[in-house]
Amino acid sequence: MQIYVLNTGFFKLDGGAMFGVVPKTIWQKTNPPDELNMCTWAMRSLLIEDGNKLILVDTGIGNKQTDKFFSHYFLHGNDSLDGNLKRLGFSKDMITDVFLTHLHFDHCGGSIEWNDSKSGYRPAFKNAMFWSTENHWKWATKPNPREKASFLSENILPIQESGQLKFIERKGNFATNFLSNIDVLFVDGHTESMMIPHFKYKGKTIVFMADLLPSVGHIPIPYVMGYDTRPLLTISEKEVFLNQAADEEFILFFEHDPSNECCTVQRTEKGIRLKETFAFAEI
Ligand SMILES: [Zn+2]
Repeated sequence: MQIYVLNTGFFKLDGGAMFGVVPKTIWQKTNPPDELNMCTWAMRSLLIEDGNKLILVDTGIGNKQTDKFFSHYFLHGNDSLDGNLKRLGFSKDMITDVFLTHLHFDHCGGSIEWNDSKSGYRPAFKNAMFWSTENHWKWATKPNPREKASFLSENILPIQESGQLKFIERKGNFATNFLSNIDVLFVDGHTESMMIPHFKYKGKTIVFMADLLPSVGHIPIPYVMGYDTRPLLTISEKEVFLNQAADEEFILFFEHDPSNECCTVQRTEKGIRLKETFAFAEI
C-alpha cells in the first residue's frame, strides 16, 4: 500500500466558529487569526494506492462555486486537487473509489465539476464509486436550517444521478474491512454519521480525522467547533477516541490543520494532550 498526501488548497474560517466556547485568548496561540478574525485551514486529502485500487479520501472544496461564494472563504495558495494529482503522476480518471467522510462542501466539493458546456454537472472522477453512508445521505439531502449552507445540492445530487453512489453499511459505530482493509468509525456529534477511516500503514494505525479533530489546537476534550450539531456528543466521542489513540499509539492525520499533517497524543494529568507532530512522509 502506498499513500500520498494531497493538499487541495487552503481556506479561511472564523476562528470563533472553529473553537466554539473556547476564548480567543487561548485559541489564538495555536491558530493566529487575521484582522477579520479568520484563521487559515488546510483541505488535505489522502490518496491510497493498493493493488488495482486508487482511493481518494475527501475531495476539498472544488472549483465550480461562484466567485461570491469563494470570496467568503478566502481560498489561497497554489495547491489544487488536479494539480497535485498530476504532480504525483496520476489523473482523475485513474481514481477507482472516492471516500467521503461527510458531505459538507469543504470535504466533497471537488467530487463534482461543471460539464464541458457548463450547462450542468458531472462527477469529476468518471471511473470511481463514491462512498457515503445512508443515514448521512438522507440527512444531507434534507438538510436542517443549521447545516443548510454547508450541504450544497450541486455537490451531492449529481453523485446519485450518475449511478456512481454507494453506501457503506453502518452497524453500530464501526464498519470493518471496507475497501483495502480500511475500517470506518461512525461519529454523530459533528453531523449525522460522519465516517472516520482507520487503516494500517507501515505497522501503524493511521486515522483520517476529518472534522472529529480539525487541528492540534482542538485536542483538549471540550475544545469543540461551534459548527458541531451535537457538541456534547462530540465531547464523549472525542474522549473515547483520544484515550484509545493514546493507548494504541494511533497516528492522527489532519485534514484541516494548516501546518501539522500528523500527530500522536498522550495521557497526562491534565487529560489527553499532544505528544508529537510530524509530516506524513516521516512515518
Ligand atoms: Zn464538516
